Amino acid sequence: PVVVRFAPSPTGFLHIGGARTALFNWLFAKSKGGKMLLRIEDTDRARSTQEAIDAILDGLTWLGLDWDGDPVFQFSRADRHREVVDQLLATGKAYRAYDTVEELDAMRANALAAGKPPRYDGGWRDRDPSEAPADIAPVIRLRVENAGDTVVEDAVQGTVTFPNADLDDLVLLRSDGTPTYMLAVVIDDHDMGITDVIRGVDHLTNAARQIQIYNALGWKVPHMAHIPLIHGPDGAKLSKRHGALGVEAYREMGYMPAALRNYLVRLGWSHKDQEIFSTEEMIAAFGLDAVGRSPSRFDYDRLENLNGHYVRATPDDELVEQFAAALPYLQGGPAAKAKLDAGLWDSFRAALPSMKERSKNFNELLDNASFLLVDRPLALDDKAQQALSQPGTRDLLKRLTERLRALDTWSAEEAESAVREFATAEGAKLGQVAQPLRAATTGKMVSPPIFEVLAILGRDESLARLADQAV
Ligand code: GLU
Repeated sequence: PVVVRFAPSPTGFLHIGGARTALFNWLFAKSKGGKMLLRIEDTDRARSTQEAIDAILDGLTWLGLDWDGDPVFQFSRADRHREVVDQLLATGKAYRAYDTVEELDAMRANALAAGKPPRYDGGWRDRDPSEAPADIAPVIRLRVENAGDTVVEDAVQGTVTFPNADLDDLVLLRSDGTPTYMLAVVIDDHDMGITDVIRGVDHLTNAARQIQIYNALGWKVPHMAHIPLIHGPDGAKLSKRHGALGVEAYREMGYMPAALRNYLVRLGWSHKDQEIFSTEEMIAAFGLDAVGRSPSRFDYDRLENLNGHYVRATPDDELVEQFAAALPYLQGGPAAKAKLDAGLWDSFRAALPSMKERSKNFNELLDNASFLLVDRPLALDDKAQQALSQPGTRDLLKRLTERLRALDTWSAEEAESAVREFATAEGAKLGQVAQPLRAATTGKMVSPPIFEVLAILGRDESLARLADQAV
């Protein structure tokens, strides 16, 4: 059975690239009926924070990417990592190296001067331990094969060959006894039973190093898939302005998790020319063979359009539920939520069909619902203010208010025919009446259809708002 893992370092939020890696792992596991485990790679004690751990768990949960079992914390496994190094020392696959900082610096400087990548010269590979200086705590290095190649058979990158001559004896344990990332990843992947490692292509060289550790231990190397990076719209490294944000920023921008998932899956993976995928369709169609090698470009417009599609296509009840869950994270959302909770959800629900047509994200939906949430007397925006201060407009509104007050039944249809008759009687165009009416009842010049607004606000609130302005 397939077991994959998502292995973020909790040194920052769950950024968009990490979320895409998690999604690919999750889809791969689901498509194979396997498991996705979560490993928090918290060995960098200085940079790992609880806040980042919380943000990662929260981000994955929000995106609907659940994992199996409890998260594994890498740092807590340091004893196990040291125990494996003891085995490697016992079998001669690893050795203690007592180089001084000065010696290592000199090696690096010489390599750079010769235009070569810095490499450890293997000085302590075969030296007798009796030569060890007493005052230096050694690091422990892997005795790597010098001849031949290390080959990564990668499901996305193909067969990638690294000449062993380029790979030096890497450090497994630092002089203070802490395991290196390279060592910890191999032991944890092995112990967690990982069958497939799916991660960013920036880890491809690490894969060659890790394979050497697997070989030294006589362990089976998992299948590997190194997926291309996400670039900015300009083809350069993804910057903050171009989308390199934590997933919580996307929640704050009012995107729906299903839309973001759909957007992310298409960054690097394709299935014919299908753009829209339900989660079930994604799982059914996903495969590493359809992941391309070239970096994909992050494009806000596409995300925005896709999200707009999800807003329109989501059934109203479900949309209300998701919007309510998103509100605490939106600008002005908590206050709006308090008002809606106090008795306005039915009105919101009634206005939803027309609001969702004009909302690409939840912030726009909130903005479209603002007519419901404002307090009397309404604060008018500049354009509404202007419309109402045209000569004669307030008198016109006064007459209109009286006409509407006389309605027997209050409905969008009744209001519309009354306003139309009124406009005709005044010798005015419909817009000349409807626009001030909109300004007075919503405070803005754009809103859901005005007669619907009147019906949803109800007779008392509509007439009161009109009376506030018709003075
Ligand atoms: N912790 C590493 C990272 O966040 C990932 C390691 C791996 O997937 O092997 O980049």
